[in-house]
Amino acid sequence: MKAIVVGGGIGGLAAAVSLRRVGWEVEVRERAAAFGEIGAGVGVMPNAMRALEWMGVSDEIRRLGTPRVSGGVRRQDGRWLVHLPDVGQEKVIAMHRADLHGVLLRALPSSVLFNDAEVTRVDELDADLVVAADGINSRLRAELFPEARGPEYAGATAWRGVAPGPFDLPISQTLGPGGEAGILPLGDGRVCWYVACVAPADARLDPVELFADWHDPLPELVSTTQDVIRHDIYQLPLLPTFVRGRVALLGDAAHAMTPYLGQGACMALEDAVTLAAVGGDLARYDAVRRPRTRSVWKGSRMAGKFGIEMRSPIALALRDFAFRVLPPSLAIQGMTRFSSWEVPQVHSIGSNPVVN
Ligand SMILES: Cc1cc2nc3c(=O)[nH]c(=O)nc-3n(C[C@H](O)[C@H](O)[C@H](O)COP(=O)(O)OP(=O)(O)OC[C@H]3O[C@@H](n4cnc5c(N)ncnc54)[C@H](O)[C@@H]3O)c2cc1C
Repeated sequence: MKAIVVGGGIGGLAAAVSLRRVGWEVEVRERAAAFGEIGAGVGVMPNAMRALEWMGVSDEIRRLGTPRVSGGVRRQDGRWLVHLPDVGQEKVIAMHRADLHGVLLRALPSSVLFNDAEVTRVDELDADLVVAADGINSRLRAELFPEARGPEYAGATAWRGVAPGPFDLPISQTLGPGGEAGILPLGDGRVCWYVACVAPADARLDPVELFADWHDPLPELVSTTQDVIRHDIYQLPLLPTFVRGRVALLGDAAHAMTPYLGQGACMALEDAVTLAAVGGDLARYDAVRRPRTRSVWKGSRMAGKFGIEMRSPIALALRDFAFRVLPPSLAIQGMTRFSSWEVPQVHSIGSNPVVN
């Protein structure tokens, strides 16, 4: 059986690695001149770690990502609202996106990778299975679901960077009025950071100015990092199915979501492993992945409402109070409640495979 994967981002490469593990012949077609990732950090949550374990690459991820450090949630002035030991490695392993992409790329032979290979139509592709992993602006999604709406602006903008360090910092998310920030240390002393605020799309804004009075070392990280990437945040409206004929949508092409739970790339990894675990059975893939990604998509929207979008002083005071009085594990449950996912086990009852 042969699969063509369209798109060589984190989702597409993960699909290729996973399908090869269960015996598929795979080809990855990437439109860019070279396989690679720009961007800054990505948080690998425990659910994504299980997917990477299944793919056989988790040791490298642990080595390259956040070491065992403490962390939690802070206020704009730096006061901890919740602080836990062992957040790094236990709750989240942050990595440079290029490192995660590189780990997946090295798990594939170069003979299956085709760059400068833009796909414009599904009928160009001679394969039993086509995996559309071509991102939020997916051309294949637009071809197969012409009735579906395209990306919609989620009302906020983010800047991300990697500061060279070396730093010795805890991992943290900081919530302020109409904004949030995160510090994600890597294993080699570098630090991935992001800052984000509510804003109209394409607004002219200076993050150095906006985050100048946030706690240390955020202002220093934002003002001294050389390459800062800005992303206005978009999401894709939910679809009634991820499957058309022999094509499966995967990753952002299927369900691009806001980044407030840090689960977008994690969902792409889960999609990839699930598609392989169900042996490329698209009805089962759809039945398993749509409810899961729908709840994470909605949870991420909700996290935005209780996080970055909250601006009223009364609501902020109530939120801070709730963080202080709740046991730490309960206080961060909103952020971690989707992390308990396990790779689906496929077994047979009579002649029918059943997915757990
Ligand atoms: C500000 C921000 C912060 C985020 N933070 C996190 C986080 O902490 N944790 C997390 O899990 N997720 C995070 N995400 C989400 C995450 O970045 C995405 O969910 C993930 O990268 C999606 O991967 P993908 O492979 O589906 O798509 P992409 O990474 O978009 O890859 C698509 C690939 O397809 C190629 N392509 C496109 N069209 C074609 C074509 N026609 N033919 C061939 N190739 C094509 C592109 O060149 C690209 O290489 C964040 C996103 C944003 C915007």
